[in-house]
Amino acid sequence: MDLLYANDTQGAYPQSWYAATTEPLAPYPVLTGSERADICVIGAGYTGLSAALHLAQAGRRVVLLEAQRVGFGASGRNGGQLGSGQRVDQEELETMVGLDQARALWTLGEEAKDLVKGLIADHKIACHLKPGVAWTASSPAEVQHLHDYAGLLQSRYNYDQVEPLSAEGCHALCPSPDYKGGILDMGAAHLHPLAFALGLARAAEAAGVTICEQSRVIALEYGAKVRIRTEEGDVTADHAILACNGYLSGLAPSVTARVMPINNFIVATEPLGARTKEVLTRDVAVADSRFVVNYFRLSHDGRLLFGGGESYGYRFPKDIAAVVRKPMEMVFPHLKNVRVEYAWGGTLGITMKRFPYLARVAPNVLSASGYSGHGVGTATHAGQLMARAIEGEDSGFKTMQCIPTPAFPGGGALRTPLLVLAMTWYALRDRLGV
Ligand SMILES: Cc1cc2nc3c(=O)[nH]c(=O)nc-3n(C[C@H](O)[C@H](O)[C@H](O)COP(=O)(O)OP(=O)(O)OC[C@H]3O[C@@H](n4cnc5c(N)ncnc54)[C@H](O)[C@@H]3O)c2cc1C
Repeated sequence: MDLLYANDTQGAYPQSWYAATTEPLAPYPVLTGSERADICVIGAGYTGLSAALHLAQAGRRVVLLEAQRVGFGASGRNGGQLGSGQRVDQEELETMVGLDQARALWTLGEEAKDLVKGLIADHKIACHLKPGVAWTASSPAEVQHLHDYAGLLQSRYNYDQVEPLSAEGCHALCPSPDYKGGILDMGAAHLHPLAFALGLARAAEAAGVTICEQSRVIALEYGAKVRIRTEEGDVTADHAILACNGYLSGLAPSVTARVMPINNFIVATEPLGARTKEVLTRDVAVADSRFVVNYFRLSHDGRLLFGGGESYGYRFPKDIAAVVRKPMEMVFPHLKNVRVEYAWGGTLGITMKRFPYLARVAPNVLSASGYSGHGVGTATHAGQLMARAIEGEDSGFKTMQCIPTPAFPGGGALRTPLLVLAMTWYALRDRLGV
């Protein structure tokens, strides 16, 4: 079995609060024998589910192959934050590609948010979608930076849904002694990520997609027709889509060189009852401005869902709850005695520039991954952009390629140790406050 699944039980969701609170889907069959498809999509997270759904809606015959279960990867485990724009902020994008392209990327980011909200409405996906994400900071300089950023979004991008939070305003929203101010973006949102993924699967199935679970692709044969092989079957297709994100291993070496798997962790506390007010006074999500971001929100049953801590090898830490408790208690020292009832990890794909990597790896094989922690909207949207590109309209796909994605230094063998060094340095800077 692939090392990337070393922390998991084959065919089973991790024991997350998400899995415990989602109506499961009946298992889809394993691929056996030979199938023919217009498009074969590999990986059933947001990227693959959205691509498959949009292609089926365009009348194409689609087979979707998933190594484990639908939404088993990052899409069923994440922080649920649907952020505005791109993972890289607009100021940095302007420096990288100039104002016009930065504006085009902002527009695509807004389309991504609207797409998620639209899919949830159109397919009646019950996934607790709520408006509002706050960005908080721990030093006056960082608070000023966030306030300036809100001003830039208003003046240059005409975005009026973000407001500055003073120290008092921030504290009234989130009574953490760690935060000194921030911004509140009511155009951003948060949701139950696994329920969203399973809702997309239901919609894709209803649109005619053939979904196969526990059907890991072990080989791709490129050519005028693509042949996709699993242990027990194969699909011959006109096009293939790689939607494996952090879990892609050997299928496309040019993607593996540019998209690195890293792990991130979340805990769910016991229900807090009246103490929810000690975390948040409004039902919005929060992310802070640390390099290893702490992010949290309240669940619909009144728990604190707190994400924090990263690791860069294949194995998750033995005691995930202990790892996440550290940043949780730094942000909320008053929650020291609160019990943690669920703790889980997930693997996501990051790129050197923290901008997603959309690539045409062969004339008839597309790939999208490396959302770098900003995939709820961007991955769902990338699936739609790939579907459109196959239908002959690839302007959005191409715009997302305007930032070149370099390979990680060190190639397959050295990239992880080098990344560990770099990340440890930045995490240390967080702790030292420099
Ligand atoms: C802990 C955590 C917190 C996060 N928080 C946020 C957040 O708050 N907001 C946000 O926007 N983003 C967040 N992210 C990132 C976000 O979850 C991802 O960017 C997004 O889910 C990527 O979707 P995907 O479909 O590309 O990948 P995934 O959901 O990982 O799906 C890939 C799928 O491909 C399958 N697969 C891989 N190889 C094969 C193969 N050979 N054959 C068949 N199937 C295969 C895998 O089993 C997997 O199910 C977070 C991620 C993690 C892990």
